[in-house]
Amino acid sequence: MKFARVLFHVDMDAFFAAIEQRDRPEWRGKPVIVGAPPNRRGVVATASYEARRFGIKSAMPSVTAGRLCPHGIFVQPRGGVYGEESRRIMAILADYTPLVEQVSVDEAYLDVSACVREPDPLIAIPASRRLALELKQRIFRERGLTASIGVASNKFLSKVGSDFQKPDGLTLIPEQEKRAFLRPLPVRAIPGVGPVSAARLLEFSFQTIGDIQDSTPERLRAAVGSYAEALHALSCGNDDRELSFETERKSISSEHTFDVDTRDPQLIRATLLELVADVAETLQRKNLTASTLQVKVRYSDFTTLTRQTTLPDPVCGAAEIYRAIRHLLKKEKLLVGRIRLLGVGSSNLNAPSGQLRFFLENQPVK
Ligand SMILES: [Mg+2]
Repeated sequence: MKFARVLFHVDMDAFFAAIEQRDRPEWRGKPVIVGAPPNRRGVVATASYEARRFGIKSAMPSVTAGRLCPHGIFVQPRGGVYGEESRRIMAILADYTPLVEQVSVDEAYLDVSACVREPDPLIAIPASRRLALELKQRIFRERGLTASIGVASNKFLSKVGSDFQKPDGLTLIPEQEKRAFLRPLPVRAIPGVGPVSAARLLEFSFQTIGDIQDSTPERLRAAVGSYAEALHALSCGNDDRELSFETERKSISSEHTFDVDTRDPQLIRATLLELVADVAETLQRKNLTASTLQVKVRYSDFTTLTRQTTLPDPVCGAAEIYRAIRHLLKKEKLLVGRIRLLGVGSSNLNAPSGQLRFFLENQPVK
């Protein structure tokens, strides 16, 4: 007997904000905004659901967030804590199946086909529902956090499912219902379609996923060019991407030993820029993003310090990496004394969205 392919997309709810609310009970039920303070340049990393009611979103400038919600509790991100929490959650997922593709700090796909053995095609999915509920309960019991899970036969549908009823959601999309399920959803429900792409689609009267299902290939091509075919397939709930379980390399780094130990700020800056450019170039060539960045500094007495930071959004651009590295060096006061070696590294690598990285959007898919 052939069993259906069953994938879970597990996505933690308002991850960073939920961790802060768990650790500070007096913040529960309140608008918590993790990110830069409202009087400084910088953006919101994650907002609690209470804060979202004020219209606050990830990547919004903190100044705007402060205006929308003057009584919001603004919290500096605690990257190390989030990274550790991420590892613990991924470890729970790995208890159920080794087939886990981690997509970001708080998101993963699981292939649970062998655990649930549902009939093919995926019709009623009772065993999958039981397993998903068990997994959600376990995460809540052991980590005090809620997750949303989407269950379906492919990556795209399971991701749409986990987004469908957040927070603490569970959405199952049986194979024979997938087209009807997708029909009424706005085009923005397609991962990778951001505001820019949605506006473009709207110009061509594509408002819902159903509009895309019904489109002729020509019309869709007029709107989105070479993405038409992929977009049409998704709109019908078809997606044959495999899970990828291992990025070829676990980290990408670059370092430089100075000919003569130095404390020259200009030389240090130029060297950092080169190292960052090197790392960014490798990431982009491999179509990877990094969620964690490291710096390494070796001093003339061979003392070596490394520090790392986990970012709210994965990065691959030189400018973003440079900013984060500078910030880390400054915060940890690493640039003191004579320096022998500098290194820049990136880890927690993911291949985001792949083909789903959409045409006009230049932002990571969350
Ligand atoms: Mg999440």
